[in-house]
Amino acid sequence: MNQTVTVVGAGLAGSLMAIFLARRGCAVTLMEKRQDMRRKSLPAGRSINLALANRGLKSLRAVGLEDRVREQLVTMRGRMVHDQHGDTDLQPYGQRPWEVIYSVSRPGLNALLLDEAESAGVDLRFGQACRRVDLEAAVLTFEDESSGQTAELPLRRCIAADGAGSVLRETLMKQPGFDCTVDWLEHGYKELCIPASDDGSYRIDANALHIWPRGGYMLIALPNLDGSFTVTLFLPNEGDPGFDHLDTRDRVSDFFKARFPDAAALIPDLEDAFFVNPTGPLGTVRSAPWHLDDKLCLLGDAAHAVVPFHGQGMNAAFEDCLEMDASLEATGGDWSRSFERFFERRKPNTDAIADMAIENYTEMRASVTDPRFLLRKQLAFELERRQPDRLVPRYSMVMFRDDIGYADAQSRGRTQLEIMERALQGKERLEEIDIDAVERQVLETLPPI
Ligand SMILES: Cc1cc2nc3c(=O)[nH]c(=O)nc-3n(C[C@H](O)[C@H](O)[C@H](O)COP(=O)(O)OP(=O)(O)OC[C@H]3O[C@@H](n4cnc5c(N)ncnc54)[C@H](O)[C@@H]3O)c2cc1C
Repeated sequence: MNQTVTVVGAGLAGSLMAIFLARRGCAVTLMEKRQDMRRKSLPAGRSINLALANRGLKSLRAVGLEDRVREQLVTMRGRMVHDQHGDTDLQPYGQRPWEVIYSVSRPGLNALLLDEAESAGVDLRFGQACRRVDLEAAVLTFEDESSGQTAELPLRRCIAADGAGSVLRETLMKQPGFDCTVDWLEHGYKELCIPASDDGSYRIDANALHIWPRGGYMLIALPNLDGSFTVTLFLPNEGDPGFDHLDTRDRVSDFFKARFPDAAALIPDLEDAFFVNPTGPLGTVRSAPWHLDDKLCLLGDAAHAVVPFHGQGMNAAFEDCLEMDASLEATGGDWSRSFERFFERRKPNTDAIADMAIENYTEMRASVTDPRFLLRKQLAFELERRQPDRLVPRYSMVMFRDDIGYADAQSRGRTQLEIMERALQGKERLEEIDIDAVERQVLETLPPI
């Protein structure tokens, strides 16, 4: 495909998409608003690490990057739940050795993708913010951050990977027949850090995603390769407790000491970091359609940002890249049809992960300490052991399986939930449940995957 393509946004999705396109022989220009992040460090508090799961890895494998990415990963086997008294309980994510997820550094992964894009011949242009999109004249206007000068590029075969606040989406959605909603969560987030010990070792278990669930809010921590943890507080924006109430050093200190005493002891500069690091918003973007002729197609967060509670935003964006590549293959490089096919195949799946991500917030901040939730998880694992081709816990379908789309995981998950909820009525222990009968229902109701 000897054609010119413009990708706007050199974040995780844009950089990976540029690699896929360059491998197809396209002449790719990648336009990024920020300066080259390989030379300038990210501002503090911008999701320094992320959970990477099998779907994301599958896309990285497709461009030959899996081995190099694996060098950057820290394995997380399960959730380490910290109660109010500092006692911990490891809840494994799955029941087979490979059923794990990984913590990866956002800047490390983004830098690797940019290096690879550069070696694949992508023309990387930093400090270039897309300011205007003229759909009729088919022109994109970029402003150079240092000189303030503007330059134009034709709006043709353009992939918009400019993130949740996408300017390209904003313009596209003003067209008749296009629609977009942004649902803001009434909770925000703030990042903090647990540093490594003096000898570089981890202060808490390295191979877990740590959660301090407190019902209406929570703290989580993901390991970094250097022995530190990135900690994120998810809290209502308003109320008590809420970000608006935590407005003095004493209030921050008292809140952490009362609610997360073991974590507070591990964050040395807690009050300073709390006021230096920004409080970020959390929202879900739902838009449709994502494409206009062969001019433009949205991809990644620009099309479908989700809240981070299933750790799937980046994974979904990486799946997008694989699907866009498959669409170009399936249509013989017809861009208009590729964009259309891509949208039709991805939209039901990204809608499904948007819903499941919101549901997972309740699971992480509250359900993980609920005996009924834990009993249901035990039952799901037992049924999976008996019928591994028919019953796979929904969390496992989303996080470990790259052969089940999000929409199928969601609808199968609903049926599984109904079966299990019926079996759990009035039961407190696994031994009280007639598992053979539940297994028969699974066989009758759920076709093999
Ligand atoms: C707190 C938090 C935790 C998260 N945790 C996880 C996780 O554990 N696992 C997971 O899978 N996902 C997670 N996510 C989601 C993940 O960060 C996103 O889904 C992912 O970054 C999407 O990639 P993207 O390339 O589409 O967008 P982005 O990463 O936002 O990249 C967009 C790029 O476009 C550039 N840009 C923006 N506007 C313009 C413009 N006008 N002109 C040119 N360039 C522009 C930006 O500078 C940026 O480089 C998390 C998100 C948050 C907020």
